[in-house]
Amino acid sequence: MRKFLIAGNWKMNGGAEFTSDLLSAIKTRKAVISEDVDVLVCPTFVSLSMAIDQLHESDILVGAQNMHEAEKGAYTGEVSASMLVEAGCSYVLLGHSERRAYFHEDDALVREKLQTALSHDLAPIVCVGELLVQRKENRHFEVVKSQTLAAFSGLNEEQAVQVVVAYEPVWAIGTGETASPEQAQEMHAFIRTILSEQFGEAARAIRILYGGSMKPTNAHDLLSQPDVDGGLIGGASLDAESFVGIVETAEALSISAGKVDSQLSPEEE
Ligand code: PEP
Repeated sequence: MRKFLIAGNWKMNGGAEFTSDLLSAIKTRKAVISEDVDVLVCPTFVSLSMAIDQLHESDILVGAQNMHEAEKGAYTGEVSASMLVEAGCSYVLLGHSERRAYFHEDDALVREKLQTALSHDLAPIVCVGELLVQRKENRHFEVVKSQTLAAFSGLNEEQAVQVVVAYEPVWAIGTGETASPEQAQEMHAFIRTILSEQFGEAARAIRILYGGSMKPTNAHDLLSQPDVDGGLIGGASLDAESFVGIVETAEALSISAGKVDSQLSPEEE
């Protein structure tokens, strides 16, 4: 059974005061997190240490929004995997569509970063997803397939299960547009099929998150899809009530059903 992961991507929002206030508000609303759900926040680099200190007695995990692929060296302005681990991060977002679009990150670079992250036991959350034009041209499966295969290429099964995939249709990010639960499930099942062709049974253990305008009002319908194993949340993660609302939806769904992927009947789990 896969455990839900609810991850907040704070992007370039908030300094020290914002981080402290938002984390306090989350902890006040949600003092205890169910063991059935992993909860992660990804603040900016400069707020990571503070967030880690503030969350040291909490079950909420902290991750980074990016990292450099090299171990160390003359890369002005960059941050390495070992620095993130030393700071206390357990996850790192890689290949977010904003990084692909604004910082020209391509599949080869995302793959290199992913391999560096894994070599430091930092769990990568690799983002894949099509542009609106690609969906309109009916190329969305082809695009997501090639991003997914590129990210996982060269990994063995043991490494693959440590990777989390976030399917984020670019047309749904920060737009208020959401993929319908059926569109999300269709793509998540497709990604799992690709992964099972590469890694066999191990693909059942790989979590696939949905990202794109998830909020408390649509979280139930999205998270109840069999292959949707959590959410990567931008805008709604900046508001404690909304973020906790999504976490509580995941908790309620884990208790009522558990996650069973579409390729399995409940008896096989
Ligand atoms: C994101 O940027 O990863 C994201 C999903 O943003 P939003 O929830 O605001 O669409």
